[in-house]
Amino acid sequence: MQKAQQTGDQESEQKTQPVSLQHRHFIARRRDGDHVGKKIQRQIDRYRTETLDQSLNTSLDITVRPSDQARPLSDLSGKQIGWSIYYFEHWLYQKPMAVQVGVDDEVTILHLGRYVPVTDYLRCLPQVTNTTFENGDSSRKHELQWQWWKTNSKIFPFEKLPSEVRDRIFGFTFGAVIEPYPTHRARRGAGTMFKREKHVINLLLLNKELGNAASKILFLYKTFYVAHLPIANRLLRNFSQGSNLRHLELALSHNGFLKLFGWKFGDVHTFTASRFVGALHTMELHRLAIDIAPPSLTTESPWFDGVCQKIVAGWILEAAWPWVRGHPVEVTGYVKSFQKQAFEARAVAERQQIENWKVCGRELGLGEGTMQEYYEELDEEEGGVSLDGAGGGKPNGSLAVDVPSYPPNCYCLPLCTVGTWDADA
Ligand SMILES: [Zn+2]
Repeated sequence: MQKAQQTGDQESEQKTQPVSLQHRHFIARRRDGDHVGKKIQRQIDRYRTETLDQSLNTSLDITVRPSDQARPLSDLSGKQIGWSIYYFEHWLYQKPMAVQVGVDDEVTILHLGRYVPVTDYLRCLPQVTNTTFENGDSSRKHELQWQWWKTNSKIFPFEKLPSEVRDRIFGFTFGAVIEPYPTHRARRGAGTMFKREKHVINLLLLNKELGNAASKILFLYKTFYVAHLPIANRLLRNFSQGSNLRHLELALSHNGFLKLFGWKFGDVHTFTASRFVGALHTMELHRLAIDIAPPSLTTESPWFDGVCQKIVAGWILEAAWPWVRGHPVEVTGYVKSFQKQAFEARAVAERQQIENWKVCGRELGLGEGTMQEYYEELDEEEGGVSLDGAGGGKPNGSLAVDVPSYPPNCYCLPLCTVGTWDADA
């Protein structure tokens, strides 16, 4: 009935895929009270999920239902427990199989003139691997493997593996870059959104211990790529002090960056810095990339449509400095080479100062200080300026370019706008 509503495409697609679990459950519901049919189906399913190879074997894509010609089978008390013949339905054929139930309740089927256990028959079926999975659609492979894990009665003793091996597996599972993503496809996990397949993030939810181990790897070794201001805020709110997050790449729009870090457009307008951006001070990052978006005529805000890229990149870097100083910062994307070099050199010098301060502390027996402590001490010396970023470390040699009017029109030669952008010009 359902089939009749499907288009040809869907039907042929279905032929190359294993029967979905939902479909099986649907059939199982109709079999309430059919003890024998259920038992056969269970044996097929169990056999199929014994190994991933069998799970991929489309020959085992079998659904069982009573034949129209069957007579009822009853137990010793006369209660009906099933039928004498069942169809083994495969997408290529429908095969009637005679069934017997032994005194020990064991169900056997007639095959080559003998009643044999269902698995004996299944073992004779050819191994036909679903080409969908062989031809390299890895997302389907993941899906199938996940389904296999879910239905497999054998539980893989993952937690008994040495932690180095588990960490490697987690590492492969997540891929190199995590992109938290705010769309409907995103899944909620660990307090933020991850643009990942559900089964991957499910690792974090499996149980507390595994979740902790997996998120440790997630934060220690993977780069978090953040392209949206709401995600940046959520990430900073959730992953500040004590988090394992080490690799962060901020790739916001011009508008997003200036709203995150805060910026004053002369007397025209002021973006107040995000109240979460201070968390950057408490992070122990191994890499912080600031990825500047390309010049565009259609940016996220009319403020930045077709403006001078050099000026806006300068603003972004200037706005960022109080918050990102002390981290190993790398500037990427559409930024003039001289701006990138100046900013990165400034960041290196800053880190050297912190390093010197740490060495001093060690020599004085004060223990290993943190970057946050360095700035707290520095601010005390400078007269109690708080870490809200407003007063913190205004650099010498400002990168920001004063502009007489807004928006900042481009008078560069060549124009540093769409189409004529050149990082070295
Ligand atoms: Zn320009």
